Amino acid sequence: MTSGQSEKRSKIPSSVGKADVDPGFAEGIPGSEETDLELAFYKLFSKLVSAMTTFEVDVDLVKNLLIKMCLMFRLCKAETRVYQNEQEEREDNGETLSCYDNGKEGNVVLTYRVVTSVMTRAVITSYMAPDEKPLNEDEKSKLDLVMRTVLSYISRKRMREALYKLAYFDEKGFPNLRNWFDYLGKAAAQDQLRDKIAFRYNLRHFSLINQEFGRETGDVIMNSHYAKLVELLGDDSFVARLGGDNFLGICPAEKTRIVVEYLTETEVRTPKGVGVNISTSAGFFRVQNEHDAMVDAIMSSKISAYRVAQNGGMDNTVFYDESFRSNREKSMKIQQQFSEALEKNEFKPYYQPKVNVLDGRLVGAEALCRWFRGGKVIPPSEFIPFLEETSEICKLDFNMLENVCKDMRRWADEGRELIRISINFSRKHILNTYFPETIAEIVDKYSVPHELIEVELTETTSEIEYGELRRMANGLRDLGFHISIDDFGIGYSSLNLIKDIPWSTLKIDKAFLPEETEGESSINRIMFRHVVSMARQLGLECISEGVETPRHVDILKEYGCDIAQGYFFDKPLSVADFEQRLSRGRYDI
Ligand code: C2E
Ligand code: MG
Ligand code: MG
Repeated sequence: MTSGQSEKRSKIPSSVGKADVDPGFAEGIPGSEETDLELAFYKLFSKLVSAMTTFEVDVDLVKNLLIKMCLMFRLCKAETRVYQNEQEEREDNGETLSCYDNGKEGNVVLTYRVVTSVMTRAVITSYMAPDEKPLNEDEKSKLDLVMRTVLSYISRKRMREALYKLAYFDEKGFPNLRNWFDYLGKAAAQDQLRDKIAFRYNLRHFSLINQEFGRETGDVIMNSHYAKLVELLGDDSFVARLGGDNFLGICPAEKTRIVVEYLTETEVRTPKGVGVNISTSAGFFRVQNEHDAMVDAIMSSKISAYRVAQNGGMDNTVFYDESFRSNREKSMKIQQQFSEALEKNEFKPYYQPKVNVLDGRLVGAEALCRWFRGGKVIPPSEFIPFLEETSEICKLDFNMLENVCKDMRRWADEGRELIRISINFSRKHILNTYFPETIAEIVDKYSVPHELIEVELTETTSEIEYGELRRMANGLRDLGFHISIDDFGIGYSSLNLIKDIPWSTLKIDKAFLPEETEGESSINRIMFRHVVSMARQLGLECISEGVETPRHVDILKEYGCDIAQGYFFDKPLSVADFEQRLSRGRYDI
């Protein structure tokens, strides 16, 4: 603006002038009152511009200067509406940033609109009350200049925010990997990574949750799960989404218990109020010392712990430490040898007899896997947990079933009377929709009657798995197979497990078998007695595992558990030894 426009200039009301102009600012400057006001305006304007263009903007200072501007132009209100996108603007559903409002009803003096390149929109409007002296042309052009400046500041700020959001958050609004590295980088620079626990987790069976509730509700569930964790952890922690249902987090070591508990299982509610239990597979890593490479170290170590947790049939939560590292090596070795071993038929079923305690009849057997490698026999505890880290265990289980069927076929062809054989199946099969059909296919290949095959499954903890387990058990039952709950009583089974799933047999875990020294009223005895009686009344067959002594046999007889399996009768036997038992068909009681 040039001084040539000065004759059109109006006076700034004295009250505003006082608030506005630095006392003494105009003093000593020769010239008219207009010139003083002109100078006052430019001084204010230049302050505003510099306040808006510094790196760390002092928002209060900017606000203060804007209020002074509003007073200078006798405005009763000035506000900006900001919209994230076109639709928000159409529906006038934006955010309002009001820099001044004295409460008087006003008319629009000027309005401006801007659309930024990241499609955010802003509209700035100034109002003046009808009882105020209208703006002259010069004032209008000054106000115009101020409003454009403000708008450009706001849109620049919004654009920065939008870009930050795009760069540091994913499409669902979770902090992303860039955000994660940024956080770690800053924390490392300030020596704040020491003694923190980093973790990675995956929401278990989230695809099933999506299937059951729909994707939209699935998103809400994922959001609530995340939000609750972030709230639990507080400001000194950080959780980011890696993609899909995978997350990364870091928090002070003293909060480990809180995270582990939360990630093990927690209930989240859908918008309709339905409770869903969410469990995760998680790997944890303790950050020990500090240096730049730490950022990478956290990722790689933690991820391997997580992989084990995710695939592990045993524990959903795995800590990365020394024992983890050595187990890891063992595991890798087993995984490497597995395919070849399977091809060379190194896995053989051993058979452990099941005996009726009332008459000593051999009524069935459990096939237990043994690995023959390099002249040694490896027990299942040394390889099954590792095969459960991946889904290799499923191949082994089907291979065992096939070997059992082959043996049964041969026994039948030799004219032996067949007894029911049970085979253990890992929980890893639970997501295989064709599980019952695959079993039938293998069994039918050897023309073994379905009722002579028993599928042993262990209990399950999560609700979602529970639904799948039921589907699987119904499928097996419909095809005529027997199904048993293995190791009953040591997991977290609920009574619903018995009520809703068509089991044929309940195998009470050896931990429940009362010791000889335990009296009539010991907890184990009471529980054992009632579990047996419940199973019988529900029409389930009941087997006790781990029967080792004559006293155990007496307890079984006393409580009505007719079938026993354990060292008292036999250990798991090689085929040749088992065939001898088959021929004899009976034990002395
Ligand atoms: P399980 O299914 O509960 O099998 C019973 C385990 O108890 C067997 O151990 C058996 O040898 C042992 N046992 C039998 N009688 C007695 C006794 O009187 N006293 C004691 N203390 N123990 C007894 P094993 O053969 O080492 O198998 C361990 C576990 O490995 C099995 O527990 C089963 O969960 C798993 N497993 C074995 N073979 C397979 C398989 O082919 N597939 C899958 N998925 N798991 C298998
Ligand atoms: Mg078993
Ligand atoms: Mg068992």
